[in-house]
Amino acid sequence: MGSTPPALPALKTNPKFIFFTDFDGTITQQDSNDFITDNLGFGREERKKGNVDVLFGRRHFRDAFQEMLDSIKAPFQECIDVLLKNITLDEGFKEFYVWARENNVPIVILSGGMEPIIRALLENYLGKEEAETLQIVSNNVAARPGKSINEAGGWTIIYHDDSGFGHDKSLEIRPYAALPEGERPVLFYAGDGVSDLSAAKETDLLFAKAGRDLVSYCERENVPFKTFDSFVDILATVKAIAAGKLSVTAAATGRS
Ligand SMILES: [Mg+2]
Repeated sequence: MGSTPPALPALKTNPKFIFFTDFDGTITQQDSNDFITDNLGFGREERKKGNVDVLFGRRHFRDAFQEMLDSIKAPFQECIDVLLKNITLDEGFKEFYVWARENNVPIVILSGGMEPIIRALLENYLGKEEAETLQIVSNNVAARPGKSINEAGGWTIIYHDDSGFGHDKSLEIRPYAALPEGERPVLFYAGDGVSDLSAAKETDLLFAKAGRDLVSYCERENVPFKTFDSFVDILATVKAIAAGKLSVTAAATGRS
């Protein structure tokens, strides 16, 4: 091949479908950033205040999120160790991952979290080699001046871009969405919350986690979607679409 522009790595295998997905609260059952904030940082109450400010447009997500993570003084490796013990994988994700790999459906993780945490969790759930096959586009972590990330107060988040989200997920999806008919794969997205708002309008079918903020956002903004409880539901729908038994429009049944 060799003709794939570097900006579109998910096209490398000429897939008919690409599956973009959020990580925290979507592939995992809990949000890892919330977990370390609640347990090692300023706690749940302060975090909730920040969330409300973002939802009502009083603050940018990136500022509230930075403040939340900066309240955690534990060394970075300690955060990873705590997360490995406490964060669990969605019950259907492993099977979905295996099916996607066998059926040439690239999975691209678009996350507002930090890459080393996502990698460590995925290696733990799927195995090291398997985790390496997944493309991750996310924020990163860096040492504070004169410190190392593995000392107290030594690390901070480095954002992916300058957007108010810290990571504008639509930026990664748009070049695929803009491909001409015939070259453009069908694009899926799965997510659960505020960090997914920028991506919600970009794909052909959006899966929104039942009972979470993204569902009410889609209803308010008239974005077609389908709710899911776990990747067991997503796999059933994506399989039916890949087999030509269901169209993406017919699949977007909202809450039902
Ligand atoms: Mg999430």
